[in-house]
Amino acid sequence: MASLSLKHIFKVYDGGVKAVNDFCMDIEDKEFIVFVGPSGCGKSTTLRMIAGLEEITAGELRIDNEIVNDFEPKDRNIAMVFQNYALYPHMSVYENMAFSLRTIRMPNDQIHEKVMEAASILGITEYLERKPKALSGGQRQRVALGRAIVRQPKVFLLDEPLSNLDAKLRAAMRAEISRLHEKLGTTFIYVTHDQVEAMTMGSRIVVMKDGYVQQIDTPINLYKYPDNMFVAGFIGTPQMNFFDGTVVKNGEDVRFSLDCGTNIDMKYIQADKIPVNYMDGAHKIVFGIRPDAVRVYNSTNYDDGSWAPAKAVVSVVEVLGGETLIYANLNLETPDAQSGAIIIRADSDTQVRRGDIIDIEISRKKFHVFDKATEKSIRRRIPKENVIRASVAGGVLAFADQHFTLPSAIRCADSADVEISMPIQALTLGEGGGKAKVQWTEDIDGKTLYFLRVGELTLFSLEAGEARFAIGDEIAFDIDFTQMSAEALGVTPLCLTNTLDGIFTKEKNPAGKQYDFFMNIGDAKLVPTDGICEKVFACKGNKIFHTPLEYVIEAKKLSVVPHAEGAKNALTGKVVTLLDYGRESYAVIDVGGQTLTAAYRGNVGDTVDVLVPVEAMTIKDKTIDIIIV
Ligand code: ADP
Repeated sequence: MASLSLKHIFKVYDGGVKAVNDFCMDIEDKEFIVFVGPSGCGKSTTLRMIAGLEEITAGELRIDNEIVNDFEPKDRNIAMVFQNYALYPHMSVYENMAFSLRTIRMPNDQIHEKVMEAASILGITEYLERKPKALSGGQRQRVALGRAIVRQPKVFLLDEPLSNLDAKLRAAMRAEISRLHEKLGTTFIYVTHDQVEAMTMGSRIVVMKDGYVQQIDTPINLYKYPDNMFVAGFIGTPQMNFFDGTVVKNGEDVRFSLDCGTNIDMKYIQADKIPVNYMDGAHKIVFGIRPDAVRVYNSTNYDDGSWAPAKAVVSVVEVLGGETLIYANLNLETPDAQSGAIIIRADSDTQVRRGDIIDIEISRKKFHVFDKATEKSIRRRIPKENVIRASVAGGVLAFADQHFTLPSAIRCADSADVEISMPIQALTLGEGGGKAKVQWTEDIDGKTLYFLRVGELTLFSLEAGEARFAIGDEIAFDIDFTQMSAEALGVTPLCLTNTLDGIFTKEKNPAGKQYDFFMNIGDAKLVPTDGICEKVFACKGNKIFHTPLEYVIEAKKLSVVPHAEGAKNALTGKVVTLLDYGRESYAVIDVGGQTLTAAYRGNVGDTVDVLVPVEAMTIKDKTIDIIIV
């Protein structure tokens, strides 16, 4: 039984290969976690770092809240099962399983009990006297699992354990490993490149690509709400269908124009999670639809307005028994054009043939939209931002009959038509000068996503906890202007993350033989905690004294006080700008040639001390862009 915490884990191999970048995850006790992704994406490296077989370049690995970066593999209470079983060929199955217990000098009767129990769990009791070469692949893999089970580890790590088995046996062993997980009630971490294995076994899945985590979620959430085209295409068979195109909003109607010639029409409320700036007919988007979100038209089909009609020409029909896969093309003139290729999962009794032109229906609920350039989803389960067309006149922002006086920190020119955007958290509910009607709410993992109708726009707000307002309620809302951006007017969100260049130094302690260490930012010398020193040296050793660093700290963690000589862990500076946002006021402070932002009410020109809680700082190695602390 164990929980794991991986914080900003990096792996840089000798030679500079960055195999794992900024891997962050908390794993709860008894979870079955699957790392999945194409070959070379960093899955095994991550697993081997957890096992202790590979050094962690930077980051913090905890097992049951204890930092284990420097623990030997044998001291981590982890068992690893490999693809090639790694059984001892000259030993019997019994001895293979008993081996690790003999090395810790467990009494024979206890060893016997554990081996027999594991053998019975795995159904290999009758093979105990055999040598590995007299076993089938599946039986060998069971022995390898047995060898791990007898040690009663806190965590099971499995590295592609089934990839040497044929398809049928693999399916059977999948189910067996899932049952084993339930029976043992232990945390499992399982590596595979096979998305079917990942989907069927994982309680949560980590999708990786090129050393970066793409998304971490439950199988069903990855399938329904992929964050980007890679995850969308990797999870699910047959693959999601993708079509390049554009989208336009016209009042309450929205039209997707696909490059292959097909138009998909729907109401704005069916597509309102897409930011309206994409609905200009110019932004390149990719429309994604899974094969099971398309159906062949039938006059008896039930339709409540959530199916959009289209036509396709059939190229291949695969009758699989329980279902039929139809490979078709939306482009009726050039049916082999890749841009219109579509796969439809249909009932087994669907009667279509190669060459048929068929009426199909595309779900207006289960479709995905991605930004063509970034490949990121722009129809996210939780939209990222509200995008609004507004006007600014005399310091008043107006949109959809709403009027907000801009705070003095935002000084911008008048404009009759300007696009503003803000994260959805910047829209706060219950008070303020805005008026909206709650159109819909969604409960997402304990948070409430509000769909608010403001004029002809849907705006979003996200709050922790259950819904405070009901559908149909007329409510007030406010805008946190620190988070607003309006590119055309030069308005950017207030940057509340401060990044300061610096170095790490040592000085001989005048009182003794030891050294004192410092985090230097300009002339200021901040004193690191012992914990910071440990991490810095564990990661960089003495190289830390020659490494350019970035010290990163959130403005909210800083406090600003009048200057006093000798203040500890303070950056002394001068206020250069005051930014008054009404309820909150901030200062831009020059600290020895670099600037930072912190909450402050006072005057330009004030000399102040910015007090820095060093333990809340992130320290980055600038040369290879990894987080050290
Ligand atoms: P996966 O398990 O997803 O196939 P790996 O974790 O094995 O991926 O590898 C991730 C990347 O690190 C790959 O580019 C691989 O070539 C590289 N790599 C793996 N092991 C080493 C090593 N010992 N030395 C240098 N590069 C390595």
